[in-house]
Amino acid sequence: MRVIEIRASHALTPSGLPEYQYALNPYLGCYHGCRYCYARDFTGGDAGRRWGEVVYVKVNIPALLRSEVKVLRPGIVGISTITDPYQPVEAKYRITRSSLEILLPAGFHASIQTKSTFILKDADLLFVYRDRVDVGFTITTMDRDKARLLEPKAPPPEARAYALTRISELGVRTWIFLGPLIKGLNDSAEDYRPVLELAKRTHSEVFVDRYRPRPGADAMLSALGISASADRSWWRSKTQEIKSECSALGVICRTAEEEWRMYDKGRRRLEL
Ligand code: SF4
Repeated sequence: MRVIEIRASHALTPSGLPEYQYALNPYLGCYHGCRYCYARDFTGGDAGRRWGEVVYVKVNIPALLRSEVKVLRPGIVGISTITDPYQPVEAKYRITRSSLEILLPAGFHASIQTKSTFILKDADLLFVYRDRVDVGFTITTMDRDKARLLEPKAPPPEARAYALTRISELGVRTWIFLGPLIKGLNDSAEDYRPVLELAKRTHSEVFVDRYRPRPGADAMLSALGISASADRSWWRSKTQEIKSECSALGVICRTAEEEWRMYDKGRRRLEL
């Protein structure tokens, strides 16, 4: 694993996702090296070319952020959108931690997505600011072997389930990103049912999504012999199946498209 320190020009950037006003990516590239990761296609340099082997660390993010929070309007910050904010380099650099220590007292809301148990190191901060954070764990299947194939260096699903449970016990709003689902690989009831049961136990919402083809991710999957094309009728029936299991369990479940439709052009949540 090669770690390269760089200096960024901005900490907060406008987010392309409707649910966030800003994105904050303390790192570029991701040690976890997930084979379906779309972020590879948005990451330049060696971190993108050698996915999972090179990580750029934006060492000046806290300094930039201290200035930016004085002039930018508080809003929802997606942490992170093209990397995992709690991948192993965070243990040394603590840029995610420092960013939260600046953003939260300044009135920003942090929406954190990770696969890592390392987030538990920040439980103290998450507890204090539990009304200004939400935490999502990506869980693609509870099958350990499949998870290792798809997410070779990420913590195993049961470790994520443990961390999600601990965070939810802090009174923090939690959610599970169940995806990407790949037809014939991780889309069976044996894959997703334990994830929905975990959501029920932890009072977490579920966002379900299919694999969305990208050249870099397609190449990584096809190197494993996985063809990830998916037809619409499969996805229609799969979402119906998952949603009906969610209803039976009393779990709130939305597809990514349904979630995005909940925001107007001003990125306000329509139900609020
Ligand atoms: S943890 Fe997230 S950002 Fe990192 S490789 Fe996996 S999918 Fe990509």
